[in-house]
Amino acid sequence: MTRRISAALVMLIILSVSIFSFKQKEPSQQPQQKQKLRRIVIDAGHGGGDVGALGKYSKEKNVSLEVALILQQYVEKEIPGVEVYMTRTTDVYDSPIEKANKANAAKGDLFISIHCNSAAPHKRSEIVGYKTVTKKNKKTKKTTSKKVPIYKTYYISNQAKGTETFIWATGKSDQKANALKNHEDLYMDSTTAAELKDFNPEDPEMEIILSLKTKQYFDRSARFAMTIEEEFIKTGRPSRQAKQRGKGIWVLQAVAMPAVLIEIGFISNPDEEDYINSEKGQNEIAAAITNAIKRYKYTLETSGIKQGSMSAEKK
Ligand SMILES: [Zn+2]
Repeated sequence: MTRRISAALVMLIILSVSIFSFKQKEPSQQPQQKQKLRRIVIDAGHGGGDVGALGKYSKEKNVSLEVALILQQYVEKEIPGVEVYMTRTTDVYDSPIEKANKANAAKGDLFISIHCNSAAPHKRSEIVGYKTVTKKNKKTKKTTSKKVPIYKTYYISNQAKGTETFIWATGKSDQKANALKNHEDLYMDSTTAAELKDFNPEDPEMEIILSLKTKQYFDRSARFAMTIEEEFIKTGRPSRQAKQRGKGIWVLQAVAMPAVLIEIGFISNPDEEDYINSEKGQNEIAAAITNAIKRYKYTLETSGIKQGSMSAEKK
């Protein structure tokens, strides 16, 4: 009898402890689980009169749009709670400034620009025959003939292949800080905008926060770029790695959010042109980028660095 009572008591203690800890855990877990990746801006490179690089039969502006649209579907289907904003869904031209403004106005938390790479063909020439050239000396009136080779110049396609993901160069970080400063309350990414809404832009602390944000965006962009290339490698693509570039990717510096530019393959390489135009290739590329976004989101939302800590620095 006493044994039964003590057994019941033990059960009761276990039960109440677990109820207590459950009750304790639940409310504290909820507000901490901040969603840091809410809106992704997907930018299909080029468009309209800006056709981008040309392959044998396809144009970069079309391939990048097709892949961007598949990526949109994948993200919306596989990453619940994340919205996608497209800079274009049809064959239209927007200047990089307009694209950056759209992305900033959409308050994206991550900017992904899709492009195709291109490498100039190699120029070759070979001797295809000989011809005889006769010259007459004006003084001596003597004629001489000479055999000279006939050259034919031709181009062979560059075999460069693989994927590359770019982030803005570190030297350009000042521009990034300016993008943040000028777009301060209009254009901050959704999380930062909420955190900084009470801040006075003249406040010297604002400068510190902007430079911290710039650093944070750089780190995040670099991490995301490396993750994308890792995912491409998993699908068997040759990776040319994540790189920094200061030229030709102005839009990456102009958006107030972590940003990458993905070169999904070489349109100038006949094999790769086929791959990036194929249904299989486009699906694989979109799936690899989606997996990278999932990993990026997971790391962002489970990392020890609390984004909310910025508000605490206010005092
Ligand atoms: Zn391009």
